[in-house]
Amino acid sequence: KLHNTIQELKGNIRVFCRVRPLLTGENASEEAKTISYPTSLEALGRGIDLMQNGQKHCFTFDKVFVPNASQEDIFVEISQLVQSALDGYKVCIFAYGQTGSGKTYTMMGRPGNPDEKGLIPRCLEQIFQTRQSLRSQGWKYELQVSMLEIYNETIRDLLSTNKEAVRADNGVSPQKYAIKHDVSGNTHVVELTVVDVRSSREVSFLLDHAARNRSVGKTAMNEQSSRSHFVFTLRITGFNESTKQQVQGVLNLIDLAGSERLSKSGSTGDRLKETQAINKSLSSLGDVIFALAKKEDHVPFRNSKLTYLLQPCLGGDSKTLMFVNITPEPSSTGESLCSLRFAARVN
Ligand code: ADP
Ligand code: MG
Repeated sequence: KLHNTIQELKGNIRVFCRVRPLLTGENASEEAKTISYPTSLEALGRGIDLMQNGQKHCFTFDKVFVPNASQEDIFVEISQLVQSALDGYKVCIFAYGQTGSGKTYTMMGRPGNPDEKGLIPRCLEQIFQTRQSLRSQGWKYELQVSMLEIYNETIRDLLSTNKEAVRADNGVSPQKYAIKHDVSGNTHVVELTVVDVRSSREVSFLLDHAARNRSVGKTAMNEQSSRSHFVFTLRITGFNESTKQQVQGVLNLIDLAGSERLSKSGSTGDRLKETQAINKSLSSLGDVIFALAKKEDHVPFRNSKLTYLLQPCLGGDSKTLMFVNITPEPSSTGESLCSLRFAARVN
């Protein structure tokens, strides 16, 4: 009951923390001393404590997933949001954290291992199954997918069949990929590829295509994918022939750029520009969610491409879930603390 009251106060923004397991080769000796979970009944499954330089930092979120939580455990907690999208809500699920903390694992999973499928394939399976089962009640659903990347505040169309179009990030005309919101809250990105999909297999094919397009710039820019935001959008239009009801929902799944701060190694040139763009858009996202959570009158959506793109899907009666991904490595404690602070601010 208390939890319900908190939800009502906060509106529809929730924060889940996920700590990934140590990977082989990572230093295990110090782990237990760095991250711990409060044992009090009140904080059970919701608290995480981080130790840095002898000082303990305590955080509470809507849920904390321990390292051995499975992909299925995670999905169980979000499948209701998928149902909301089918019911006509606009939903955003973000993965936030430093590079290597498990964002892509959470969203996509490990390729080739069905048990380790991430949120995107699981959401799609649920949607296609529900669509099938609602058919007998007269519901027909149309599903449309788009996938884009925001790199240095520039949109790239990951479903484009034209490789040049994907690669050209600075030379594109300002009209191309301009973001337009109509009065009914639908977002249109000029010339962005939108594909009608009828099965989760079709979507996996598109995800593969997007992955290939994403890696286009990889040789030119090191670890391109961790330097850009990946936005997967599924538009859901449902129509009931017998009751004449119509619903329009959107499910956005966003694998954010790595949140790590500028390294001491002194980034310059392109790398510096990149980092500044990432910092700007991640802090804008934090500002927007914070303003929404606090129900402030002014929400600074226009400060970054990402928040402007998602504007109709954030706030109002839309639903937002932020995963903050954490690595248990003692050497990452500083970054983990930053991520937890970011998440605590919007929680
Ligand atoms: P990010 O996208 O945040 O940079 P990744 O998702 O690529 O991080 O994860 C980094 C590495 O850790 C990958 O090898 C991934 O397979 C592994 N990993 C992340 N989370 C988990 C997890 N929950 N269980 C097992 N391995 C994980
Ligand atoms: Mg990643």
